Parts: sequence; structure tokens; C-alpha cells
Amino acid sequence: MDTRPAGRIYGLLGYPLKHSFSPAMHNAAFKALGIDATYKLFEVSPQDLKGFIESLPQSGINGLNVTVPYKEKVLDFVQLDSESFYLKQLRAVNTIVIKEGSLTGFNTDVPGFQKHLKENINPADKKVAILGAGGASRAVAYVLANNGAKDIVLYDIELDKAQRVVEMIKGIFPGVQVRCIKEIDELDIIHKDILINATPIGMKEADPCLVSKEMIHYKLFVYDLIYNPPQTTLLKLAKSKGAKTSNGLGMLLYQGMLSFEHWTGKKAPMDAMRRALEEEIERVGHSD
Ligand code: NAP
Repeated sequence: MDTRPAGRIYGLLGYPLKHSFSPAMHNAAFKALGIDATYKLFEVSPQDLKGFIESLPQSGINGLNVTVPYKEKVLDFVQLDSESFYLKQLRAVNTIVIKEGSLTGFNTDVPGFQKHLKENINPADKKVAILGAGGASRAVAYVLANNGAKDIVLYDIELDKAQRVVEMIKGIFPGVQVRCIKEIDELDIIHKDILINATPIGMKEADPCLVSKEMIHYKLFVYDLIYNPPQTTLLKLAKSKGAKTSNGLGMLLYQGMLSFEHWTGKKAPMDAMRRALEEEIERVGHSD
């Protein structure tokens, strides 16, 4: 007997999975459009990943979001969306569409971040400092280079990782000035236009602020990819210096809308999804 639920199934693949805002956002979207579907969490350990992915065509699951630590690992199992020519170099997939036995990989962090960033600032000709060199940072660096940023500098506690992002950007955009540095002070934030936090530092109440007050100036635009808490220590510090700031809630919303559209072929209901995210933040608040 087939015990699978009648509706379509979507979800988030990661390990370990912390509290995620995606189920609230996507379930609200399904409800708003009257789609019989559920968004679930799939916490799959590294030793079970291959088996899980290979079973997807028969699983009844129609689509996935992918998060840490699998955005790169799933590249071994999916066909990359042929229209996103940069995916091969980006090496990060955050959305999988499962259809007729085949798995297609997309990255919606790139267009999601791009849309939200450009609502706040035009990165063309700007000097940018990026903290972190993980999956999200690769999407951020790609967007900045693709939108004409003048100078990009990256810092990660693992220099090798930052070096790999630099190589990726140089490979795709040979003309862009991009480099990584060993010490955070070398970011020279005081002479930058944009500072982006793409590390998880700031998610916990007790987290240190990676940059000091002296590094921030009032003309700086500070974007923190973290959305819970809505005001990280970094954003509070930047505000106190008169800088313009944004958290990552808009990016989360836009990447989620694009994933939804890849899965369903329907226009995502933005207002319902935004409302669900805001209610979820209100409900769970900030828990370390
Ligand atoms: P990730 O792959 O783990 O990358 C984070 C990077 O930051 C890693 O290279 C990490 O190094 C580095 N790092 C950690 N502590 C550091 C420090 N003190 N100084 C410098 N670098 C440090 O995570 P991710 O997927 O890129 O996500 C990064 C953040 O963005 C998370 O907070 C995530 O929630 C957020 N995010 C938001 C959205 C959105 O839609 N708003 C989307 C994606 C991600 P180690 O590996 O050595 O720890």
C-alpha cells in the first residue's frame, strides 16, 4: 500500500537543521494559492546523503531547498539548470526540482540577494568588503562582480576558502578587482562603500562583533545576511554610527519566491510569504 501523502512534498535538506523559517514561508504560499502541498524538513546525515538523493525520484518529493553543508555536495547528483551558466563555477545549488525521475539544480540565492541588494544600493563602482567565504559568500561575491563592483575584498578565518572565492570570481569576471586578506584589519573598511556579513557570526546573542566601532563610518552600507535576530550586534553598531543597514530577510524572501516558482511554475505570492516570515520571527523570536 502506498502510504505517501496525497499532496505534493517539498522541503529543506541540510544537517544539522536548526529552526528554519522556510516551512512557514512555503506552507503559507501553498495555502495562499490553494496548492495541495507541504514543505517539510529533511535532516539527513552525511553518511545517508547519497542514499537519500538516489531515492528522490521514487520518494514522492517534488522539490528541495538545500542548505549547509550540502550546497556543493549535491552537485554530484543533479543536472545543473542550463540557463544558469555560472552554476558550474559557483558550485552551490540551493534548489532542486525533481521531475520525471530527473533532478535539476538551481541557485536562487544569487538572484534573491541581487534583487534585495539593489533595492538598497547600486553596487556599480562600489568598494566592498565581505566577511565569510562559504556558500552564501560565493553568491554574494558573484552578484557584486556581476553588477560592476569596483573592488571586492574577502576575509574568512580559513584563508584557503577565501582564496577559492577569489579564483571563482577571477575565472568568471577576469576584469574584476578581487582579493582576500589574512587579517580582518586589512579589509580597510573605513575606505569601503559596502560591508557584507556572510558568516554565521551574529546569530547567537553571545557572538562577538567581527568588526570594531572605529572601522564603521556613516557613509557605509552594512548588509548582514542573518535575519534572526533581525538586528545583529553588527547592524546595531552600524546604526549607532549613522550607517545605512539591512538584514537578510529580504534575501530569504526573494530566494524562497524563486524556488517556489521553479517548483510550481506559478508566480509566488509575495505578501503571504513575507507575512509568514514576519509572523515566524515574531513567534519564535531569537533563540540561540
Ligand atoms: P557557511 O557555508 O558555513 O559559510 C560561513 C563562512 O564563514 C565559513 O567559511 C566560515 O568558516 C566563515 N566564518 C565563520 N566564523 C568566522 C569568523 N569569525 N571570521 C571569518 N569567517 C568566519 O554558511 P553560509 O551558508 O555561507 O551562510 C552564512 C550566513 O549567511 C549564515 O548566517 C546564514 O544563515 C546566512 N544566509 C542567509 C541567507 C538569506 O537568505 N538571508 C541565505 C544564505 C545564508 P568555517 O567553515 O571555518 O566556520
